[in-house]
Amino acid sequence: MEYIPQILFLIMLAVGFGLFAKSAMRIRRNVLLGRDIDRKDRASDRMNLMLRVALGQSKMVVRPIAGTLHIIVYAGFLLINIEVAEIIIDGLFGTHRIFAPVLGGLYTAAINFFEILGVLVIVACAIFLWRRNVMKIGRFHSTEMKGWPFKDANYILIIEIVLMCALLIMNAAEANFPDEHRAAGPFLISGLIAPVFSGMSYETLHLIERVCWWAHIAGILFFLNYLPYSKHFHIILAFPNVYFSKLTPKGQFTNLESVKKEVELMLDPNADPFAAPAEPAGEAEHQRFGAKDVQDLSWVQLMNAYSCTECGRCTSNCPANITGKKLSPRKIMMDTRDRLEEVGAIIDVNKGTFVDDGKSLLHDYITPEELWACTSCNACTEACPVNIDPLSIIIDLRRYLVMEESSMPAELAPVMSNLENNGAPWQFSPADRFNWAQEG
Ligand code: SF4
Ligand code: SF4
Repeated sequence: MEYIPQILFLIMLAVGFGLFAKSAMRIRRNVLLGRDIDRKDRASDRMNLMLRVALGQSKMVVRPIAGTLHIIVYAGFLLINIEVAEIIIDGLFGTHRIFAPVLGGLYTAAINFFEILGVLVIVACAIFLWRRNVMKIGRFHSTEMKGWPFKDANYILIIEIVLMCALLIMNAAEANFPDEHRAAGPFLISGLIAPVFSGMSYETLHLIERVCWWAHIAGILFFLNYLPYSKHFHIILAFPNVYFSKLTPKGQFTNLESVKKEVELMLDPNADPFAAPAEPAGEAEHQRFGAKDVQDLSWVQLMNAYSCTECGRCTSNCPANITGKKLSPRKIMMDTRDRLEEVGAIIDVNKGTFVDDGKSLLHDYITPEELWACTSCNACTEACPVNIDPLSIIIDLRRYLVMEESSMPAELAPVMSNLENNGAPWQFSPADRFNWAQEG
């Protein structure tokens, strides 16, 4: 009987972490459905970028109010979870505040620091809820944010408030324990709410303390398992996402190797114009030009989709969106994630094989109208706090439209045909290119 709480704790921990590991593996499998891309270069530059942008939140403070509040919630989440280490040890070994006698005054200082941070997190979350639900800030209420995405953000803020309150109430109950049972204190913040529980018997106080203790750890495990189904998975993925982000200049597009080879051949004066193209080694499978569906994107682009915080900074900086076009780079990322989840679910149902469902990211989720509204200005990639690159997906989908479907706005068709036939956007033969020098 004495070990029942420990056994229950162990089961809860194993189930919580086991389910999370399963969800994390599912997301990893989905991300790796993407094409391979080499992002292992410049390791130290990548590490510095990750420390600055993901850990240091450097791009968040561009909007000082939201940025500062986000840093408080983020720091609170990271630091207060140090306490979870003690909760886990206590839960497994049946101890109570095992670090208190070891650390002495330092322990009290740490708990009081966590309490201050906890209150700041509650205040920050409350302000975030206010901004979303009462102030109704525009970027949280656009079309793609209707329904689940809007509720998701609210749920996570409420969960964080509940977790912090459980922590403070737990300490407040313990502050009223008789001296021989109290393991820590005095508490700076929970000491202020401790009078609410004064006069209660030790048994009642102990019950309140235990209920909050279990609620706190159960809430953390619930939160952990909620993350993979929420935009809040960015808490984890922001780090690898920034690490593997593009380091080349923002305006630099990638070339398709097969097209590049063909152009190089065209420009080589020594090349045999009638030579058959070299056969690719082995049985190289046909690769699409550009991207039609999520499997045609790279794994970095798919990780981008899972890392999107849905903050809308990209969309609120997008000139196309600002001028009333249908394009929203945030929606591009949300659509990519939704389609990827759909493809992953099909693979799960069919025991590891993707069975064509007749749908694709292009057309069923993202329309050509959205894609052609993009000016390729890169404002979205510049604004994104976790270095997501919506433009790269837009360009890949547009490449597919042009190169595989020959589909483009009417204004572009003559330009494309001139590029193909004349090697320039103008309607002049390359042979006439120097005629201007003869004139006059
Ligand atoms: S690159 Fe395209 S999607 Fe991004 S901000 Fe510019 S116009 Fe909008
Ligand atoms: S792509 Fe970046 S800026 Fe845009 S909503 Fe997602 S996280 Fe925010």
